[in-house]
Amino acid sequence: MRNRAKCRKCKSVIESLTLNDHVSCSCGEISISGGLYENYVSTLNYDNFLRVDDENNEIIVKVIESEGPHETEKKPDHDELLAMLDRMIDSYSSLPENAMSTPITHYDFVSALMLLSSIVKRIP
Ligand SMILES: [Zn+2]
Repeated sequence: MRNRAKCRKCKSVIESLTLNDHVSCSCGEISISGGLYENYVSTLNYDNFLRVDDENNEIIVKVIESEGPHETEKKPDHDELLAMLDRMIDSYSSLPENAMSTPITHYDFVSALMLLSSIVKRIP
């Protein structure tokens, strides 16, 4: 889903396109950032904040807890992380034989460990 939101005060629809793209509505009531990767929201009053989905439906946001001005609305849950791990395994195990015998870098190793760590931390 695209990272879009609508302000109920000034009726403007804003969109964050990239991780560091921080956009505010024309009256300054709401702002979003994070692009497609993270949905960061900041608003003075959540009653004025609406999510806009890809079909242009306006969604009222349920606020579960508030910790400071920046909140992460959605993080991948345990099942999604497991699916990411399975996709990673599939893509590596389907490599051609010459690629299978080449060494991996520490970057690859760290990204695999980070994924595993986030799965273990979120075991329900
Ligand atoms: Zn506004």
